[in-house]
Amino acid sequence: MNDILPSETPIWQHLEGCFARVVKSFGYSEIRFPVVEQTQLFTRSIGEVTDIVEKEMYSFEDRNGDNLSLRPEGTAGCVRAADQHGLLYNQQQRLWYQGAMFRHERPQKGRYRQFQQFGVETYGMAGPGIDAELMQLSSALWQELGISSHVRLELNNIGDAEERRKYAKALGLFFADHRDVLDSEALRRLETNPLRILDSKNPDLQSIFDKAPLLADFVSDKSKCHFDELLSLLDAAEIDYVINPKLVRGLDYYNSCVFEWVTDALGAQGTVCGGGRYDGLVEQLGGKPTFAAGFAMGAERLVLLLEGLTNVADSLSKRADVYILVRDVDCISAAQALGKNLRFHLPNRSVVIHYGGGKVSSQLKGAVGAGAQFACIFESKQLKESSSLRLRKLDDLGESTDCAIVDVPDKLAKLLV
Ligand code: ATP
Ligand code: MG
Repeated sequence: MNDILPSETPIWQHLEGCFARVVKSFGYSEIRFPVVEQTQLFTRSIGEVTDIVEKEMYSFEDRNGDNLSLRPEGTAGCVRAADQHGLLYNQQQRLWYQGAMFRHERPQKGRYRQFQQFGVETYGMAGPGIDAELMQLSSALWQELGISSHVRLELNNIGDAEERRKYAKALGLFFADHRDVLDSEALRRLETNPLRILDSKNPDLQSIFDKAPLLADFVSDKSKCHFDELLSLLDAAEIDYVINPKLVRGLDYYNSCVFEWVTDALGAQGTVCGGGRYDGLVEQLGGKPTFAAGFAMGAERLVLLLEGLTNVADSLSKRADVYILVRDVDCISAAQALGKNLRFHLPNRSVVIHYGGGKVSSQLKGAVGAGAQFACIFESKQLKESSSLRLRKLDDLGESTDCAIVDVPDKLAKLLV
């Protein structure tokens, strides 16, 4: 679990701002739901035999003896909240959320135990239009962030639950014939959920996966038709994609189309966004049958991308527009009064006061380091004799003029770029 320090928060705020702008431009509404839920909400939705539920959840018994877990993802909680408050029945919803998720994984670059997700969930829309919209929305975000050329869209058609059951059976028979090459985890999954064997990151198993039956051969014409329509919508929207027949996603609730946005710039933790349809989940959790589709993206991985691939971090490091320097301590109240006045006259600008101490030259260096364009320098004698200060431009030339304090706000409003 990480601390995010002041030097890093500007890039986080930038990311949060871009996401909020993009979802708003598509007409999505924000939903907030708790960090803690009943453990069984997650076991029932994500699936008993998944990495998340078997190995990664922070679960505990509270003082009442209830079994609770820190949320490892947002979809289950979103469905629970939306259904509980009647947002799903006979309605269409476009929702977004943002917040911390918790998984007890081995921490490494791009993989943490507390991490931040941005997610989008939609309800009540059956056709491929909404699937394509989700990809267009994420694509619009990459554009806004300036990372479009570093991510690619991979997608797959995983059919419906019945088709997957048939596939799981065929896969089970196939792997049963190759027991000798399976590791202990895969052997266990052979009994419980053969599909999850494909999730294994064990490199020794990858060659056998190439010979395994393909899900694509088990999906019906109806599923194929939905998928083909989706592909033609993506073509029309000029969104490039790659079909990855091995993409299954690590959560059981998905069906039909699943997708991931992947980058090569982050090593093994290359998936920055994952999602798809999950039409059976609402009913499975006790609601009425409801069409559903969504995605979640990992904010830490996006921050790493922004830091590594763009120069947005530099342009965001600015803390001040105007710096007020106080040479003599008896000028502090006048400096604070000017600060108040400037903040009123220059909304969206930052005004920082330095309360003296040290040489003026080093204070000026601090002002430049904070990104300020101007310094207002208070000196006791000048203040008392003429109610004025020294206004200094913080560029290479460093020109300065005397300026009556009352005139400073108007003057800066004109000069600040
Ligand atoms: P991975 O294959 O990398 O483990 P996942 O399939 O478990 O990812 P999802 O549950 O689909 O991931 O979550 C969506 C996104 O959240 C991921 O694509 C990733 O960007 C991010 N994410 C998932 N787990 C972590 C983590 N432990 N730390 C940071 N980000 C994460
Ligand atoms: Mg994972």
